Amino acid sequence: MQLLDTLVARAIPWAPRALIHKISRRYIAGDNLTDALHRVRQLNAQGFTVTLDVLGETISTLPQAQATADTYMEVLHAVHEQGLQANISIKPSAFGLLLEAQQCEQLIARVLDTAERHRNSVCLDMEDASCTQKEIDLFMRLRARFGNVGLALQAYLLRTYQDLEPLLHKAHTLRICKGIYREDRTHLVQDAWRDRSAINEHFLKHVERCFDAGSFVGIATHDAALIASIVKTARKHGIDPGRFEFQMLLGVCEPLRDQLLDMGFKVRVYVPFGKDWYGYSTRRLNENPRIAGYIAKALIGL
Ligand SMILES: Cc1cc2nc3c(=O)[nH]c(=O)nc-3n(C[C@H](O)[C@H](O)[C@H](O)COP(=O)(O)OP(=O)(O)OC[C@H]3O[C@@H](n4cnc5c(N)ncnc54)[C@H](O)[C@@H]3O)c2cc1C
Repeated sequence: MQLLDTLVARAIPWAPRALIHKISRRYIAGDNLTDALHRVRQLNAQGFTVTLDVLGETISTLPQAQATADTYMEVLHAVHEQGLQANISIKPSAFGLLLEAQQCEQLIARVLDTAERHRNSVCLDMEDASCTQKEIDLFMRLRARFGNVGLALQAYLLRTYQDLEPLLHKAHTLRICKGIYREDRTHLVQDAWRDRSAINEHFLKHVERCFDAGSFVGIATHDAALIASIVKTARKHGIDPGRFEFQMLLGVCEPLRDQLLDMGFKVRVYVPFGKDWYGYSTRRLNENPRIAGYIAKALIGL
């Protein structure tokens, strides 16, 4: 990131919410399910599959966890009724992982059961390091009961090398991403705290392990150099393109995602929606290497 962009990224917590809302529209389908389904229909028509994400993270009461589960079940019913190509991704903390782990598991099991009846699937997003072990254990228990659950792992964490081994399985669906949370340096692979491209060699190794093991792998990145290395590796080892897919966030690097689709790869777009847009949007803005320009443009139109 250029110095100006870094400074602007640091100032985000002090920016007016109206401004953040305006800039973040590119990253979010809208406030409600109707907006989200409209976006899914458009993306499906272009050849993309979708993952829907209801915005909202750590909750503080059990009724909120119940409400999260209800919303996701509503999403699954609507996707089924409208014949759309979209699965869902969930944050266990929004189901009460840090509040009441047993109820969290029961609620997610109900969502998985609904998804199974609709022949759909659910991916568990990976959250910050305080959740890593809890989410892996949760995945293992749920995976013993449901075939339609997947798990995300973060290449910026050193521990992912050990975590991945017991998870590698022919029938498992994993997502590898770089990781988004601000973690203590001691948890991270070397240099990841100051240089995102330092994560790439680890990311590539994890994807290769998934290829070797026959797990289905979602490759969740917008990093063009990393994607090029993965395409090269997959071709070199004759990996069937049906065994992996590229995954990108709505509103990020769209030309790259179109290019991958044109090359014949499966591409899934992660589409968040909902009223709780602030945390997600500020994380996306922080990652945008041209954030100063975006903010300047939005200010002109305010
Ligand atoms: C489908 C999907 C699911 C994810 N799930 C999780 C998860 O479960 N847990 C988790 O911790 N993280 C998750 N992430 C976020 C991920 O960890 C990264 O923070 C995010 O994808 C950016 O990293 P990158 O791999 O694109 O690489 P980076 O090195 O951060 O970015 C590479 C390039 O992509 C472009 N770019 C990246 N972000 C933006 C942006 N916001 N706006 C404009 N350009 C941008 C820039 O050109 C940048 O140089 C997910 C990401 C995706 C795509």
